[in-house]
Amino acid sequence: MKFNTKLIHGGISEDKETGAVSIPVYRSSTFHQHVLGGEPKWEYGRTGNPTRAALEALIAEIEDGTDGFAFASGSAAIHAAFSLFSAGDHIVVGNDIYGGTFRLINKVLKRFGLEFTVVDTTNLDEIRHAITDKTVAVYLETPTNPLLRVSDIAAIAKIAKSHDIKTIVDNTFATPYNQNPLTLGADIVVHSATKYLGGHSDVVAGLAVTNDPKIAEGLAFLQNSIGSVLGPDDSWLLMRGIKTLGVRMRVHQENAKAIYDFLDKNDKIANIYYPGNPNSAGFEIAKKQMSGFGAMLSFELQPGLDAKKFVESLQIIDLAESLGGIESLVEIPAVMTHSSIPRDIRIKNGIKDELIRLSVGVEDEEDLIEDIKQALSKI
Ligand SMILES: *Cc1c(COP(=O)(O)O)cnc(C)c1O
Repeated sequence: MKFNTKLIHGGISEDKETGAVSIPVYRSSTFHQHVLGGEPKWEYGRTGNPTRAALEALIAEIEDGTDGFAFASGSAAIHAAFSLFSAGDHIVVGNDIYGGTFRLINKVLKRFGLEFTVVDTTNLDEIRHAITDKTVAVYLETPTNPLLRVSDIAAIAKIAKSHDIKTIVDNTFATPYNQNPLTLGADIVVHSATKYLGGHSDVVAGLAVTNDPKIAEGLAFLQNSIGSVLGPDDSWLLMRGIKTLGVRMRVHQENAKAIYDFLDKNDKIANIYYPGNPNSAGFEIAKKQMSGFGAMLSFELQPGLDAKKFVESLQIIDLAESLGGIESLVEIPAVMTHSSIPRDIRIKNGIKDELIRLSVGVEDEEDLIEDIKQALSKI
């Protein structure tokens, strides 16, 4: 099956009992065991739920993995992946990863004795130099948020394998429509399914996928032990979202490309960060490892132009955090999503105060460009 067919028919696409083509929501916390001490397929809702299992089979299939796991949020999925490791273990992490992941690392995981070194994962030498004999994993995002920097997953996984350590990729921005890290050599993929996979800004969820039986066993154990599982209703909602990932991504990406072309020609714009920008450092790698450039882009206005006034003047594009939904969203990372990062570190990482991030939705392209045009005319 090809990708878009898998989205619809992959995993467990039909209810065995009834033939229902939409897997029912099995809202049951426990399951009748007909034999005492037997090995029932379903016993308790945290350990396993048929609706969640259908979602987990689906994400495993579309990420080219063997085992999928659904969590209450992307952060919970990332926490479970890090929980595979133990006090004293060292992990190399990208410097441009999701702010909440930094918070998890610095305020939670370090208290439990995990150690981290932050590097620029677009620079393979920085990764090589950071690896010590205590290193167990490299953790990265590509493209990153909000600067859309691209790291070479295959090259990083190769370095990791040569040191017998794991590669973990947060694939939220690319989505499996554009990029399959496991195929490129990664060991674990994590997702904030709250974004493109759900796709409608109506569910908070996380997913993890692997093709390594030992990691799968570990994640299943942690999912059940920590217990931050996705409920059956949200599992159903997320499966419904995933079915249209292909059709949504096509329009998301067409619109993003059109907006990129418009901004690129506009003299009020200073810099545009977009994996499809042929002048960007990651363009060749993006072309090689992604089938499309995604629908996130960030840009800076020319010095002196008022970014606040620009975002507040937009009428169709909503000023809001989050991304990946059908509606276009705009935000200023320095004030919103990345405000928890100390300013000096943020600036050092290239996130200027006036950087604007756009999650391009699936509205009509002309309306989005018209909206940006009128907002630019106000500044
Ligand atoms: C949103 C996001 C997360 C966190 O996911 P939640 O579902 O909000 O917990 C992790 N990584 C990336 C890249 C994200 O955008």
